[in-house]
Amino acid sequence: MTDVNDCTHDCSTCSANCSSRENNKPQFQPANEFSHIKHVIGVVSGKGGVGKSIVTSMLAVTMQRRDYKCAIMDADITGPSIPKAFGTTGTIYASGDNMVPLKTKTGIKMISVNPLLSSDDSPVVWRGPVIAGTVSQFWTGVLWEDVDYMFIDCPPGTGDVPLTIFQSIKLDGIIIVTTPQDLVSMIVGKAINMANMMNIPILGFVENMSYIKCPDCGKEIEIFGKSKADQIVSEYGIKLLGRIPVDPKLSALVDNGIIELMENDYVDNAADIIEKL
Ligand code: ADP
Repeated sequence: MTDVNDCTHDCSTCSANCSSRENNKPQFQPANEFSHIKHVIGVVSGKGGVGKSIVTSMLAVTMQRRDYKCAIMDADITGPSIPKAFGTTGTIYASGDNMVPLKTKTGIKMISVNPLLSSDDSPVVWRGPVIAGTVSQFWTGVLWEDVDYMFIDCPPGTGDVPLTIFQSIKLDGIIIVTTPQDLVSMIVGKAINMANMMNIPILGFVENMSYIKCPDCGKEIEIFGKSKADQIVSEYGIKLLGRIPVDPKLSALVDNGIIELMENDYVDNAADIIEKL
């Protein structure tokens, strides 16, 4: 690996992942002239299926309940699950050159690729650059208007699309979602290191599916093994924002498209931190 002192500033021939890497440099794009977005929070995970979309949805619901104007950009283009969680249907229309976002029942603005497809089960068989281009369009080509907090449901991992988001949208910070399995906590390190390399503030992490509460005795059973939360805190120095149990009520809310009716405080800590931004 090239030593930083030997840097030739030709990143194409160098494998070092240093902060001065040219293609890591952000080229933040403004949203369009009709959109005033005060804060943008990315929700990321190292791996799919850990509950990133559900955490994104709960954060938006919680902040909307606190009387902020919220929006969700569903940037998980190949696995969009936000419209389903909110039971939001309908078509995305254009106004001039821009798209008009959908609105959930409580008024959260939302954009996702699903309403742009012919049916819910149409696959998005697009190459990386097209997907990354779609995400850019979701930022610059949508009439977001006035938004206090936008939450971006990022695709899992550290690939092309999260990179595009980190480079082109000025994020206030990211929240990382993980689960207690060994494999997941190992991969979470990659997401943390990527954010650090790109100087994106990490607001903290949420350990989802952390335990299950026995309905009879209330005992917490760690079905996926011992919580890795303390280990992540000490290894990476990031803040634990909460541990969410496996909660059948949560999956039922998502399955029925009524996440806005949730009655829990699972992301309240995270919302407190976001509110102080
Ligand atoms: P990701 O966005 O990371 O791929 P999702 O948020 O779509 O993951 O969650 C995957 C599935 O697991 C969804 O069906 C969701 O309803 C369910 N799920 C996630 N977290 C929980 C939880 N804490 N309790 C119950 N079901 C959950």
